[in-house]
Amino acid sequence: MRKQIVAGNWKMNTNINEGVELAKMIIEKVSSANKDVELILIPPFTHISDVAKQTKGTTLKVGAQNCAEWAKGAYTGEVSASMISSIGATHVIIGHSERREFFKEDNHLLFRKINEVLNNGLIPIYCCGEKLEQRESNQYFEVVEQQIAESLFELNKVQMQQVVIAYEPVWAIGTGRNATAEQAQEMHEFIRKTIASKFGKEIADGISILYGGSCKPSNAAEIFAKPDVDGGLIGGASLVADDFIAIAQSF
Ligand code: PEP
Repeated sequence: MRKQIVAGNWKMNTNINEGVELAKMIIEKVSSANKDVELILIPPFTHISDVAKQTKGTTLKVGAQNCAEWAKGAYTGEVSASMISSIGATHVIIGHSERREFFKEDNHLLFRKINEVLNNGLIPIYCCGEKLEQRESNQYFEVVEQQIAESLFELNKVQMQQVVIAYEPVWAIGTGRNATAEQAQEMHEFIRKTIASKFGKEIADGISILYGGSCKPSNAAEIFAKPDVDGGLIGGASLVADDFIAIAQSF
């Protein structure tokens, strides 16, 4: 049985008080959410420690939005995977399209980051997905296949089993225009087959593949009902406790 996951990427939103308050509101409501769904709060770095203290003793997990490709050293402004692990986080988003776009992160760099994350006992949530022009020119399978191959195919089988994948079509992120459930299923199935071609069907069948891109309470149930969709990576709607919990109840 694959894990069902709903992860909230807060991006660069909330100050520490607002972030802790949001975490508290989610924790209060979480008892009404489906217990089989793993919920992960992914605040800015500055809030991880405090949010992790709030979630201690609950079923909620905490993650980071990025990490350095290096273990330690003279890399001013960077945050390592071991630092993230030491403050109570369990997951790290790697390769979000905003990192690819604004910070020019490419598939090979992301492979190195994934290795750092795994070497520190953390779980990478690896994001992939095509841009609008790539969808419109029917290159989307090719683009996603390359993202998967270049960032994940050098992992060994044990490492691969730890990875969570998020399919996030760039044209759907923060735009209000979600992929249809059929488009999501088609790509998730393709991603699973791509993983199977390298690591075997058993490993591919065990990997959670999340959908991300304007997922909200009104569309989550239809998308999550698809057989290869194992949950969601949620941006905007994760900043509203009621919406985040409603999405977690959409399986
Ligand atoms: C995201 O940034 O990962 C995301 C899915 O954002 P949104 O839900 O706001 O489209």
